[in-house]
Amino acid sequence: MDCIFCKIIRGEIPSSKLYEDENCLAILDINPVAFGHTLVISRRHYPEFLDAPPEAMTEFMKTGYKVIGAVVKGTGAEGYNLLVNNNRCAGQVIPHLHLHVIPRKNGDGLRFEWNPRPYPEGEMEKIAKAIKASLP
Ligand code: 5GP
Ligand code: ZN
Repeated sequence: MDCIFCKIIRGEIPSSKLYEDENCLAILDINPVAFGHTLVISRRHYPEFLDAPPEAMTEFMKTGYKVIGAVVKGTGAEGYNLLVNNNRCAGQVIPHLHLHVIPRKNGDGLRFEWNPRPYPEGEMEKIAKAIKASLP
C-alpha cells in the first residue's frame, strides 16, 4: 500500500524510532511544531480513529500512555498537547491513525488557531439532541 506510515512501519522509509510493540510504533515527527513532537502510529492501517475497533483503540492508548510519559519526562515539558486529526477538513494529511504528542513549555509561543464563537439561539439544544440520538 502506498501509505507513508505503512512504509515506515515496514522499515522501507527511515525514521527516528522511539518505541515499538505489537500495536504501535512511536517516532519523532519529521517536521515538529515543538522539539520532541512525537507520533504514535497504529501498526495496523486504519484511515482514522473511528475505523479502529474499540479494543484496538484500548491497546493503542496503552502504548500512547507510555510514550506520552516518556516524551514529557525526556523533554522536560511543562505541559503537552495530545492530538488526533481525522480526515482532511480536520487537518489530517496522512490517512493512517496516529496520535500527536506535543511537548509544551510556558511561553513557547505555539498557538493552535481556535475560533470560538457562541451558539445562535436554540442551536446548542438542537446539536445536543442530535448527538444524544446518535449514541449507540
Ligand atoms: P497529520 O496532519 O496527518 O495529523 O500529521 C502527519 C504528520 O506526519 C505531520 O506532522 C508530518 O510532519 C509528519 N510526517 C509526514 N511525513 C513524515 C515522515 O516521512 N516521517 C516522519 N517522521 N514524520 C512525517
Ligand atoms: Zn498506512
